[in-house]
Amino acid sequence: MKVTILGNNSALPAFGRHPTAQAVQVWGQVLLLDCGEATQIQMQRYGIRWRNMQHIFISHMHGDHYFGLPGLINSMSLLGRVAPLHLYAPAELWPIIEQIQGVAETVLTYPFHFHPLTPGVSERLVDNEYFSVDSFPVEHRIPCHGFLIESKTRGRKILPDKCRENEIPRYFYDKLKQGEDYEKQDGTIVKNEWVTTEGLPPKKYAYCADTLFTDSFLPHIQGADMVYHECTYLEKDAEKAAVRFHSTARQAAQLAKMANTKQLLLGHYSSKYRELEPFVEEAQLVFPHVTASVEGTTYDV
Ligand SMILES: [Zn+2]
Repeated sequence: MKVTILGNNSALPAFGRHPTAQAVQVWGQVLLLDCGEATQIQMQRYGIRWRNMQHIFISHMHGDHYFGLPGLINSMSLLGRVAPLHLYAPAELWPIIEQIQGVAETVLTYPFHFHPLTPGVSERLVDNEYFSVDSFPVEHRIPCHGFLIESKTRGRKILPDKCRENEIPRYFYDKLKQGEDYEKQDGTIVKNEWVTTEGLPPKKYAYCADTLFTDSFLPHIQGADMVYHECTYLEKDAEKAAVRFHSTARQAAQLAKMANTKQLLLGHYSSKYRELEPFVEEAQLVFPHVTASVEGTTYDV
C-alpha cells in the first residue's frame, strides 16, 4: 500500500501547497481521501489515474476538503467514464452536488453512488477481497470522519519462472497462493516454497482528517502501520489550535506514540508557516519516526 500526497495545506493554497487530498494505492486500485480544490490538476501532475479509482471518501464539509470534487466528477464524465463511482461523504454534500449538476443539466456518463456517512459512529464502508475501509469519528468543529484502510494479504507470491521450470499448470496457481504443494503426474512433489515466496503482509493506514488532540479515536488507529495526523500549528500556537479544533505537531506525535504506529505522516499545515522542518523537529522530540508530507511524494505504508 502506498499513499501519494496531492494536497497538504489547510484552508488556503500557500507556498506551492494545495488544500487536502491524498491518493492511496492498494492492489492496483486508487482510493481518494478528500478532494480539495485542484485535486484533479494534482492527479494529472503526479500520474494518479482516475480510471483505477472507484471510491472517494470526504471527511467533512469544510471546503478545503471537497471543493475539488464537482470538477473531478464532471471531468470524468467529459472523458467518457463508464465504471461506477462510489462517494462516501457527509449527507450534506449530496444536495450540493445535485444542484450543481441540475442547473447545468449535466447527465453523467457513469453510475454515481452516494453513501452518506453517519456522524459520531464507526462504520465499515467497503469490504472486498483486496481491502476494507472503515470510518471513525474524530473531533472537529463540525462532524468529521477519519478513515482506516486495511489492505488484505493475497496469499503467497508466485515465481513464474520456477513454476514453468517445474511444469505447473496455470490453473493450479490459486492453490499455490494458498500454500499447497503440487503433485506431478508421475507422483513427484513440487514443494510450495520452491515456486513461491512470502506474499505481501496486510497493512493499515489511518487517515485522521481534521481533529483536535484527543484519544477518543485511539482504538481505531491502534497499531496502524502508518498514521496520518494533521498538524495545522506548531506548539507555540497551541491555543489557536484548540480554539479551532486543530492539533499541533507535538500533539500529533503524542497520539502516534500512544497508537504505537510504525510511522507518522504530518500534513494540513497552516498557511502562516512557510517551512516544514520545524514541524518535524517538534514532533521528533516525542516520536522519532515522523515525516512531514510533501506534495507529489509517494510514501510506502
Ligand atoms: Zn476542517
